[in-house]
Amino acid sequence: MTLPTPSTEIRPDLVLLAGRVRTGLGSAADAAETDGTGRETLPFDAVAVRGRHIVAVARRADVDGWNTSAAEIIDLGESTITAGFVDAHVHPLSGAESRHNALMLHDCETTTEVAERIAAFAAERGPEEWIRGFGLSFDMFVGHEITNEPFARAFGGRPGYLLLFDGHSIIASPRALERAGIDGTRDFGNNSSIEVYADGTPTGYLIESDAESLVTDLYPRMPVEARVTAVQNKLAEFAASGYTSLHQMNMEEGDLDVLRALEESGELPVRVRVSPLWRASDPWAETLRRMIALQGVSGRRWHVEGVKFMLDGSIDNGSAWLFEADTHGGGLEPYWTPSAQFTHAIHALAESGVPTATHAIGDKAVEFVLDAVQSLPSHAANTRHRIEHVETIPDALVPRFAELGVTASMQPIHAFAQRADGCDMWTTLLGRDSERAANGWRIADLDRSGAIVALGSDWPVEEFDGRKIFAANVTRHRHGSDRPAVDPHQALSPERTLRALTRNGWASIGHPGEGVVAPGARADLAVFADDPLSTDPDRFAESRVLLTVVDGQVAHRDSSLA
Ligand SMILES: [Zn+2]
Repeated sequence: MTLPTPSTEIRPDLVLLAGRVRTGLGSAADAAETDGTGRETLPFDAVAVRGRHIVAVARRADVDGWNTSAAEIIDLGESTITAGFVDAHVHPLSGAESRHNALMLHDCETTTEVAERIAAFAAERGPEEWIRGFGLSFDMFVGHEITNEPFARAFGGRPGYLLLFDGHSIIASPRALERAGIDGTRDFGNNSSIEVYADGTPTGYLIESDAESLVTDLYPRMPVEARVTAVQNKLAEFAASGYTSLHQMNMEEGDLDVLRALEESGELPVRVRVSPLWRASDPWAETLRRMIALQGVSGRRWHVEGVKFMLDGSIDNGSAWLFEADTHGGGLEPYWTPSAQFTHAIHALAESGVPTATHAIGDKAVEFVLDAVQSLPSHAANTRHRIEHVETIPDALVPRFAELGVTASMQPIHAFAQRADGCDMWTTLLGRDSERAANGWRIADLDRSGAIVALGSDWPVEEFDGRKIFAANVTRHRHGSDRPAVDPHQALSPERTLRALTRNGWASIGHPGEGVVAPGARADLAVFADDPLSTDPDRFAESRVLLTVVDGQVAHRDSSLA
């Protein structure tokens, strides 16, 4: 196996030497060969980069034949070179701001623990200071009403809120409700709601963005300079876990200014592709014009492309759109109403060649997006469409992704909302022992069906580390947790997982030839101390990321190389 040798002289400006290259091109290029001593080696262990592209993938011995007079040569020892990871669903800019000076509650299992955490956080803050907690698990409320009652004392009269794990609902403190002028229920014209007790007073539980934002919008925005720094630091953390590309699934006011400000002083550590969100409540004609006008707005390593939709909410708070009601009677409404307008929007954008990504978690929502794409006229059928999350789908919907060319953009770590014992909110609401609860996160079924499955983190909803997402997708088990694996038959092999975290991310946005280590491909590379394809996944989850290269330039360099 040799990769095509260019006829012209190779004059790289960057040469990486490693223990092996996992090209991502398939088994032949990555198959081990046995050398004279019986030691297994891969065909390639050197990569040459010129400008923004890979110009050669070869053996160390071949480097002597290259003109390296102007090249930086980095010897990375026994490490492994792969294409850089793509996080196909993430909120890096808004997350860098919202998670700043906040309380992280992902690991709390009881309301008592949460109240203690809030009280300790509050003790170090002034009486008027906001308290914001993130990542609250639904599981502590199974069999109980979700209210602010267990936490009210801990807030100590301060404004504040706790965001539930799925990011689709909050529990507001009594003071926050008062400041927001929330004193009873309200009709938002969609599935947003203010939950109330029998006497009509609010419980503090606010579902979906129109209700949540009454409180969350009161929290003051970070000054621009501080945002620029927070985003720079966060993007560097993404690079340090193996990413070279992020697909940002939202666009908040000022985001593009932050990206522009960052590029005034240097290069972004990762590429950022921004897809703005079109809300059902946005004025139709004006939003369509704005979305089309935003396409292609760009800097050097960022650009606006595609439009994000939220067709439904989440299973845990009863706002996912399901074929049949959940066990609490919820799940029968889409978030986007009237839903025919959603199909109309997909059509209007496709006419202008604008790709889309639609949040659809429930089985009915997923079917609705597939139907909308299927209904496109043939001249608009080439635009790329993705469905985000896809948490439960029946057998009949699996083959339709590949048939329609729709990408399944999925987050392996979200599958851990389910517990193997079924004692979690997700399973409780879908029905323990129900077929739809058994059909969760069908990553392997979709991959086998020929669909493009692109993996992501959905940070800050979940952790972002690319190595942990890789491990989670191979083991269906959270790295570092002692809970048993969830639906292990939906795990992918390391080879397929690497593809889903690299090539498929690029394919999902219309660049099927990128995300591989091959001459002619963009030079977006990651170098790991351990080989993702042959190392125990739990060990790989902690492997050092020695280097990342974005657009031909070193974007992250581990301190051990300095
Ligand atoms: Zn998201």
